[in-house]
Order: sequence, then structure tokens, then C-alpha cells
Amino acid sequence: MNKMTILKRTIIWLSAIAVFSFAILIFIGWEIRETIRHNGLTRIHTILNHKIEAIDNYVQHHYTSLSNVNELFYFASRHHSIFERDFWDHSPESLRNKLAIIAQKNDFYDVFLISLEGDIVYTLKHEDDLHTNLFTGRYHSSQLARVFKDALKNKSPYVSDFYFYAPSHDYAAFIAEPIFHNGKIIGITAVQIDNKAIQAVINDTHELEKTGKVITAVLENKKLVSMFVSHHTQVSQRTFSKLPHNYPIYEAVRGGSGQKYMIDQTGNNTVVAWGYQKDLRCGMMVKIDESELLQEWNKQTTSLLLLFFFGLIIIFSMLSAALRSFAKPIRELTHNALMISSGHYDIEINSSQYDHEWQLLIHAFQQMVIEIKHKMTQLNETNIALNTKKSELEEINATLEARIEAKTYKLQEYINIIDQHIIISQTNIHGIITYASEAFSQISGYSKEQLIGQNHRIIRHPDMPDEFFKNLWETISNGEIWHGEIKNRKADGSYYWVDSTISPNIEEGIIVGYTAVRHNITYQKRVEELAITDPMTGLYNRRHYLATIQEEMNRAKRHNSSMALMMLDVDYFKSYNDTYGHQAGDDVLIRIAQVLKLYTSRSGDYAFRLGGEEFALLVSEMSDEEYLFLGHRILNEVEGLAILHEKNDASAYVTISMGIFVYSLESGLTYEELYKEADDQLYAAKDQGRNQVILKNSVIAP
Ligand code: GH3
Ligand code: MG
Ligand code: MG
Repeated sequence: MNKMTILKRTIIWLSAIAVFSFAILIFIGWEIRETIRHNGLTRIHTILNHKIEAIDNYVQHHYTSLSNVNELFYFASRHHSIFERDFWDHSPESLRNKLAIIAQKNDFYDVFLISLEGDIVYTLKHEDDLHTNLFTGRYHSSQLARVFKDALKNKSPYVSDFYFYAPSHDYAAFIAEPIFHNGKIIGITAVQIDNKAIQAVINDTHELEKTGKVITAVLENKKLVSMFVSHHTQVSQRTFSKLPHNYPIYEAVRGGSGQKYMIDQTGNNTVVAWGYQKDLRCGMMVKIDESELLQEWNKQTTSLLLLFFFGLIIIFSMLSAALRSFAKPIRELTHNALMISSGHYDIEINSSQYDHEWQLLIHAFQQMVIEIKHKMTQLNETNIALNTKKSELEEINATLEARIEAKTYKLQEYINIIDQHIIISQTNIHGIITYASEAFSQISGYSKEQLIGQNHRIIRHPDMPDEFFKNLWETISNGEIWHGEIKNRKADGSYYWVDSTISPNIEEGIIVGYTAVRHNITYQKRVEELAITDPMTGLYNRRHYLATIQEEMNRAKRHNSSMALMMLDVDYFKSYNDTYGHQAGDDVLIRIAQVLKLYTSRSGDYAFRLGGEEFALLVSEMSDEEYLFLGHRILNEVEGLAILHEKNDASAYVTISMGIFVYSLESGLTYEELYKEADDQLYAAKDQGRNQVILKNSVIAP
């Protein structure tokens, strides 16, 4: 059984949706983060550019202002020996005021007038220690000396780097411009730029975040030195010996610019932009910690995630509560359904605690239970009625069975009677016995076991001709019923006669065997036989001859076949009797009769004793030669018996004479005429010396 509950399945689905939403949230969050980083990069580069631009403007402005000072000095030089230090001890007040105003207006920290010889002849701030020579004096390697020399050499204005300037104990930058008179330099004007203004530009971090930092640096003697490092409002100066080598300030001081994300020397992820300020030849770098850049994002993301999880928890809780309220009535309904299945229909569900839809379902369920209960009652009643009917039917059945048993018993009795008294046998199509009744066993003298499995031929009697059985088989194998009388041979060699009806057993149109039903007609046959048999010889008597001759003549006519009547008479039999006695004569007659029987064993051949010592044979379907041959054989056989007969002129033994008349249809003779013809031939044989055979054919002229 699937153990998954609705609650479990819902939680799984919800979790999958939550995970998917979370993944989308993460993706979107990450995209926003990247955009914030990118915007941060752009922003700090803009800040950097603004600062560089501001310094550019500032320097350019000072160039212009310097020109004004330069012009003032030039005009003063036209009337005064301004390159003499003494002049400045008593210089006109108007000139000094003008210079002071210009210096103040233009944020010049100081203004210098320097002679071509390098003597600082005037400073606005009247600093005595600056009355020195810039070629030879103590400040000969200062930035002031440098701009002075460069301006002199290049004959053009020049601005120095910001560098530590000893007299003012601060970092300072100077701009120097030659004073020309008639195309010749007569002196140099220089101003010290108020670095506070530049510092203010650099230190202006209001656009930057807390971690925002601006670094400006210059190269001095190919070594990187810091100019300003602003960190919020604090300013410090130091060398960059601790900076990593790939720090972009190195690139900035060489004139490069760019922006990137990087890890700074303290291991923070930072966003950095850098550029070059060409007038002051300083590199500038602005950086900000990425964490600060992403602070807002982090905050928002955190609260968003919190919101997401909080929402998720609320959804989960609500859903699980809802599902629990859903599952409870299901469980209650399931429990009650199980109760019903075990046959308890009196159920009570308090539906008022559930939602409306559940109440409807529970109501429907209860209605259904009432209906089931009703139907079950009906079913039980029907069942009881059916059981009653069943009992009744069983009684009827028992009665019927008893009756059938009685009938079967009776039937078996009948079968036994039939078996005992009716001669029945069954064979398969090949004539093999498959069933034999007791009566059959008794009459045939064989046990049932001996009969079954044997061919039916076992009881065939030699007296029954082949033709007879051929005819029988033809009839029954054609599916017809055969009826007739059969002489059968018993196990002990004796015989019995039966009136037999043989019917084919047909199943599905095919003959599968034969059933023979017979009744014993032996006694009747005996009586019949006695009536037609000569008791002494066992041959047919004269009466039977008279019945047979006409039948055989008709048969010969029908078949258009030949038939011979052979008449026989014992030679000198009277003398025999006289010589050997009447009893011996009877014995002779019996022995001759046996010979005749032997030669008329074919079906359709007959031997008769017509009376006394006269016999007749009816033989058919042979040629004249064959009849004659048969006749001679019989004569020889009789003589061959070697019964001494001393009164016989024809032989030493008993002999017979024979007259044969071959009858044919064309002759149109009656049976009396036929008899006479044969008898005539017999007497002819007697006349010709006895122990003779004479044959005459009815169609051959005598
Ligand atoms: P053949 O026929 O040769 O001319 O001389 P035959 O002596 O046989 O003359 P015939 O046929 O007329 O004789 C008939 C005799 O047969 C008469 C009788 O003595 C004898 N006979 C007839 N019936 C019987 C019989 O049932 N038993 C015996 N033992 N003899 C019989
Ligand atoms: Mg005779
Ligand atoms: Mg005779």
C-alpha cells in the first residue's frame, strides 16, 4: 500500500516550490548585487574624474591668477627696481595692497618674486628665512627652486608637484612664470598654491561611503610617495611601502587610469578607480569597500530572506493545519467505512465540527449507510428464502436420487437378465469382440475373457460357406442391418444355431463397430434338419431333394450357370446284402455317404439319399469335363474304400455307377424330366458294365 499521505505529499510539493522560489530569489538577488557592484564601480570612477577635473580647474585658475601677479610685477619693474630687496623694504603701499588682494582672492598661500640670479627678493608673507638664493641656498632642492629653474629654463609657466615644503612645514605646490620684457626674462614670479583647497577637493568624501578612501601619490626619484591619503575627514601622509605591488596607484602615477574590483592590503574586497592629474603629475585613486557598497543590498536581502522564510513558515503552518482538518474527517470516514465492511451499520459521526463540504459528504455517507443497511436486510431475507428453497430442492433431489438409484438397480437387473439370457456380442469394425453377454458365453462354451479380444471367427462353423459371410460383411459394412440364421461352432467342437440380427454401431456418421443380437434356434433347426435328413447316412432325404432341385434350377436360371444332377447306384447291392448281410450293407451305404459328403462340401453342392441304395448329387458352376472328372474321382474314392464284394463283376470291391445330366436354361426341362434324364444316364452306365460314369449335357445332342 502507498504510505504517502496527503499531508506528506503537500509538504513535499511545497518544499519543492519553496526551493525553486528560493533559487529564483537567489538568482535575482545575485543579479541585483552585480548591478550594485557595477554601479559602484561607475560611481567611484565618476567621483575620481570629478576630483581630477576639479584640480585641473583649480590649477588652470591659478595659472590665470598667476599671470595677473606676473603682470603687476612687470608693470612695477618698469618704474622700480623690484629685483632689489631694498625696494621691498619701502615698496609702495598700493603695490603691496594689490598683491595682497590678488593673493587673498586667489587662495595663494604665498607669492614670490625671484631674480634671474635665484634670489628670492620678495615674499608676500615677508618670511625672512626665505631671503635666500634658490641656486645655492638651503632650499635649492625644494619644489620652489624646481619650478623656478624649470620656468627659467623652459621660458614658460610651470607647476610643481606637491611635496613637503620645509618653510611651511606642509606639503605644497608652486607655480612659476617668467616675467618677460621685450622677449627677455627679467625675473620669475612664483606662487605657493594653498594646498588646503586641493586637499579639500581630495578630501571631499561626501560622495563616498564610510570606507571611501582617496589616495593621491607622486613619483619622486622613481619612488612612489604619498601626497594625500584622505580617509573621511582625516588626512595623513605616508609612503606606500606597505602597499601591494599591483595596487593601481602605481599605474595611476604613471599616467594610467581604470577601475576594478580587488582585495586591498587589509584583505577587504574593494572597488577601485584610478586616474592621473597631469598638471600636478599625481596619481589619484578612489576606493570603497565592497561590503559597504553592498550594505544596503545585504540588509535588504537579509530582510527579504527573513520575509521569505517567515512567509514559508506561515504557509506551511496554515497548510498543515488545513490539511489536518482535512485529514481528520477522512480518517473518521475511513474508520466508519471499515466498520460497515465488518457489518456494523449503526454509525454516528458528529459532522457539526467540520466544514460545510465535509458536513455534506458525511450526510451523503450516512444516507448511503442507511441504504446499505436496508439493502442488507433485504439481502438477508432473500438469503433465508433461498436457503429454504435450497433445502426443499435438496429434499427433492434426495428423493429423485433415491428413485434413480432404484431405477438404476432395476435397470441393472434387466441388464443382468438380458446379459444372462440374450446372446449379445459387440465387435469393432475389424470383427474383434469387445463385449460378450453371459448368455453368449454360455452358448459358445467360451468364458467372456476368452471371447473378448478374439476375432468373431472363433465361433465360425465350417458348414457355413465363405460366401455366406462375405454377404453378411457386405451388408453390415454398408451400414445396413443384416438378419439371418447362422450355425456356430462351440468351444467343444459341437454346434448351435442362432437367429441373428447384426447392426452397425454408428457414431457421428462413422461405423465404429457392430452389435449382434441372437436367439438360440438350435432345437428348431434340429427339428428342421431331422425333417430333411436321412437318419442312417446323415445325407439330405428325398423330400429335401424335391425342395432343393427346384430352387437350384431356378438359381441356375437366374445366374445362367450350369448345374449337374448326378445319380448314383451301388452295383450288385442286392448280392452284397445277400452275401454279407443287411447290416454290412447298411455300413457300406454309410461309408459311401461319407465319401459323397466329402465331395459336396462347397456351398451350393448337395448330396441326397433318394432311397435304398440310390443317391443324388447337385453340383453347379463347372464345365462338363470338370463334372466328369468329379464323377470319376467319387467312383475311384468309393472303390478305394476297398470293401470286398465278391459278387461284383466290375471290381473286387464295392463300386458305384453314375449318370450325370448337365442342366442348362436353354433345355427348358422340368425337374421331373431332369431326374429322368439323369436316371437314364445311370442306367446307361449300368448297361455299359457298371463302375462307370456317363455324362449328358442338355444342349448337346445325344
Ligand atoms: P444293380 O443295381 O447293379 O443292377 O443290381 P442290384 O442288385 O443293386 O439291383 P437293385 O438296384 O434293383 O437292388 C436293390 C437292392 O438293394 C434291394 C435291396 O436288397 C437292397 N437294399 C435297398 N435298400 C436297402 C437298405 O436300406 N439296406 C440294405 N442292406 N439293402 C438295401
Ligand atoms: Mg437300385
Ligand atoms: Mg443297385
